[in-house]
Amino acid sequence: MALKIYNTLIRKKETFSPIKKNEVGLYTCGFTVYDYAHIGNLRTYIFEDLLKRILLFNGYKVKHVLNITDVGHLTSDADEGEDKMLKGAKREKKTVWDIAEFYTQEFQKDIKKLNIQDPTIWCKATDHIKEQIEMISSLEKKGFTYLSGGNVYFDTSKVKDYGKLARLDLKAENQERVEKDLNKKSSQDFVLWFTKSKFQDQDMKWPSPWGVGYPGWHIECSAMATKYLGKSFDIHCGGIDHIPVHHTNEIAQSESALDVKPWVHYWMHGEFLVVGDSEKIGKSKGNFLTLSFVQEKGYDPLAYRYFCLGTHYRKPLMFSWEAMDSAQNAWKKLQNKVLELIEKPTQGKKNAESFIEDFQGAINDDLNMPQALAVVWAMLKDEEVNNKIKYRTLLEFDRVLGLGVESIKKVNISEEVQILMEKREDARLKKNWKEADQIRDKLKSLGYSIEDTPSGPLLKRV
Ligand code: AMP
Ligand code: ZN
Repeated sequence: MALKIYNTLIRKKETFSPIKKNEVGLYTCGFTVYDYAHIGNLRTYIFEDLLKRILLFNGYKVKHVLNITDVGHLTSDADEGEDKMLKGAKREKKTVWDIAEFYTQEFQKDIKKLNIQDPTIWCKATDHIKEQIEMISSLEKKGFTYLSGGNVYFDTSKVKDYGKLARLDLKAENQERVEKDLNKKSSQDFVLWFTKSKFQDQDMKWPSPWGVGYPGWHIECSAMATKYLGKSFDIHCGGIDHIPVHHTNEIAQSESALDVKPWVHYWMHGEFLVVGDSEKIGKSKGNFLTLSFVQEKGYDPLAYRYFCLGTHYRKPLMFSWEAMDSAQNAWKKLQNKVLELIEKPTQGKKNAESFIEDFQGAINDDLNMPQALAVVWAMLKDEEVNNKIKYRTLLEFDRVLGLGVESIKKVNISEEVQILMEKREDARLKKNWKEADQIRDKLKSLGYSIEDTPSGPLLKRV
């Protein structure tokens, strides 16, 4: 069954056909490590994880590159605003290097909690300065750059099809954009290398043919993708905000430096997670919707993954605590169902072939996960399929869903633990927090952690 995906470049679904017969090169734009990831960022990484799992499910080998942006990204994608890393360093009175290290680790912890598979290659922008300088030099030799105010700029007027991904109307854009960088010849031009920039000096600096400085944001992805995936490769992803500037500029500089067209065969973009007025996603507005915050509110990270599965990746997803409650309930229902499948043998004679076909049909139709989830529930409800077959099929489906079905196991607890649980719940209901905490410590010493969730306490082995 052919895999169809929506290619932003042509604004259509098309049958996926990789450059090499069975292997796919996949590049997903990474996170800027100046703060914790918010759950919007994480929605995009869940979408990309689903894509990768679906490619694997279809029998492809996948070489997946995920970068870490630890230099050069300003608060506006179009070279305006503050340097994001510097902003983080000032906020926490640490060096930019410390900020980058800390938030890279935090990002990787979130990825694990969400059962997102590690990429084949993690790569940091600051570990690839040489490759970025080489690419800028090659652009310079070919006449695609100019020096202005001490910075090296990419001259977008030299690229005939500049803006093709975003279908930019360049004339209108030029009139609309309020020009702030007077060094630029045109508002679409972008920085490849900063030396004397208008931004405050920072610690991350390297020597280059144009003077000591640091790279602009876009060049890192072109340089690292080329290093690990070759001159042209199959799929490049990110959130929709990357279409008009970041990915547009990646294409312009890569196709110019590498003399290759198209540089990337399929561009895929995930729609945004959006939140209501009272629950702003970004830190500047107070509440900061991180995965840890969601956990503190009593939700399992995999309930957030389940929540994301419920909406197609090309549709905006509205976040609310009520919607999270429904997702967590459905996720719990699925966990209980799994326990039932393991513990209660049933007699049905029907096989699961039609469900497997439907599931594959859904995921291969441009990652239609809501439809795939509907197939999962239809199979679980079908009494003619016995529990053993259901369990085996669900494990197969979970190669894509990534909900960790295999690790759903009943926690067999002793009578002592059962009594402690009941006593703690009693203390908690009477708001006797001291006693409740003492019992929690006792449970911990016996090897259990306890989490208070909206549907009651959840005991886990630690
Ligand atoms: P950044 O660190 O800004 O490059 O963002 C990391 C990833 O998160 C990128 O792929 C962005 O497109 C994506 N992203 C940013 N905000 C959201 C959001 N609200 N919903 C979904 N994805 C987002
Ligand atoms: Zn990128």
